Amino acid sequence: MADAPDVVGRLAPSPTGRLHLGHARSFLIAWWSARAQGGRVVLRIEDLDGERVKPGATDLVLEDLAWLGLDWDGEPLLQTRRAPAHREALASLVQQGLAYPCVCTRREISEAASAPHGDTGERPYPGTCRGRYASVDEARAATGREPAIRLAVDPSRGPVAFEDAIQGTCAVDVAAAAGDFVIGRKDGKAAYQLATPLDDAHQAVTEVVRGADLVPSAGRQALVLESLGLDVPHQAHVGLVESADGLRLAKRAGALSLEELRGSGVSPERIATWAAASVGRVAAGAPRPASAWIDGFTLQSVPPHPTRLAPEDPLGPLPLMPPDH
Ligand code: GLU
Repeated sequence: MADAPDVVGRLAPSPTGRLHLGHARSFLIAWWSARAQGGRVVLRIEDLDGERVKPGATDLVLEDLAWLGLDWDGEPLLQTRRAPAHREALASLVQQGLAYPCVCTRREISEAASAPHGDTGERPYPGTCRGRYASVDEARAATGREPAIRLAVDPSRGPVAFEDAIQGTCAVDVAAAAGDFVIGRKDGKAAYQLATPLDDAHQAVTEVVRGADLVPSAGRQALVLESLGLDVPHQAHVGLVESADGLRLAKRAGALSLEELRGSGVSPERIATWAAASVGRVAAGAPRPASAWIDGFTLQSVPPHPTRLAPEDPLGPLPLMPPDH
């Protein structure tokens, strides 16, 4: 095993329900990559989104990860515990003029904005509140509304480009797709786009491995890190797992959760071996545990496209490439 103690990978689940096969595959790949480089793996529970967080889900997520055969170094970090640091970062960005308070309602934005387009279908924010209020207090006093905080995105900057270990060169045109995006919510909590990169930096993460649906977020988060004067970790975005009918697992109700698979007698070795086969490892013979696939793992062999599950037996032989990709 290469000795590179500086590599720090991370697992960053949201406690919004049980983990499914797509999560399992991304987490295995993140863990294999860090461990194969002799690195550490930190765990962060992304429990900021109060409405989506389910009571008791954190324990179940920890149980699912451990059942899968994954481990991590140190105590899990609960993102809600980082609220003071998040607030401090938001205040500092506003104070430096790199972010600003916004009192627009969703309705006002959709009335003022152009048609939705761009990488996530969101409407680029038309910039209504940019330069309008000198401080959060002033915005609140002038309107009686609780302001959100938006990062000021330079419209002339062009796409944010980064090298992704799996997807290759990525270019995310944040100004065109989102404009000045929300980094602080009206309820005073940090938005995902601020909390995640800031906490990655706090946990000294050097390698972010996660689902390819987050490539657009990677562009936004690179801008947040740049504004905060922090380094952008290496990026690797894993193609999503699709059901046999081509749907994203997250979109299917009760979609192949680890709990469900475990209940029907599927072993964690079987899941690890299926995930290993999906990244080009030869998986002949008896299924092997997650730890057996560390040696020889490299992100370079992870395909960029989605992985489609076999129709009869989801963990059966994998199609090499889904027909429409
Ligand atoms: N917590 C996010 C999720 O479970 C992942 C965030 C990230 O990896 O940046 O979808």
